Amino acid sequence: MDLKDSIRVIPDFPQPGISFKDITTLLKDGPAYRQAIDELKALVAHMKIDVIAGPEARGFVIGAPLAYALGVGFVPIRKSGKLPFDTIEVGYDLEYGKDTLAVHTDAILPGQNVLIADDLLATGGTIATSVSLVEQLGGVVVGAAFLIELVELAGRNKLSGIEVVSLLTYE
Ligand code: 5GP
Repeated sequence: MDLKDSIRVIPDFPQPGISFKDITTLLKDGPAYRQAIDELKALVAHMKIDVIAGPEARGFVIGAPLAYALGVGFVPIRKSGKLPFDTIEVGYDLEYGKDTLAVHTDAILPGQNVLIADDLLATGGTIATSVSLVEQLGGVVVGAAFLIELVELAGRNKLSGIEVVSLLTYE
């Protein structure tokens, strides 16, 4: 099936001028969700991955099933103040707004190969911040995988040197 048929596009959400790609319509459709994860798995099959890291919250719904499918672990990257153990934090700008992401200091071991996964690549701020957290822990980012890439925002330019794969693209 064409997975784009399962994505609902909402104009002017969460603010005027933003065309929001709503993936909840894909997630509630079992065959579409499975197809998306299976196709992402195929896109990253050539990468040597020890662990997948994904940013809260939609990075979990892509990264965790992908980790399960690959038989590797999953590391949650969370908003500041949510993780219970020692953390490192990095602040960043969003397509709309500002935020801080955090990860447990023992979540990734030095030298581990890490794939970063999220639902959507827009400006790249979220993923560049995730890369920074992983690298501060000594992890090696071997790739970044997305369900959707907003090509016009050129987020992949913030990820130079990292292989970026995406299933669906929008202008
Ligand atoms: P970036 O940091 O690349 O500018 O924005 C990407 C982050 O914002 C992702 O974590 C993603 O979940 C969220 N995001 C931004 N725009 C959209 C959108 O149109 N649809 C969805 N589902 N998430 C978005």
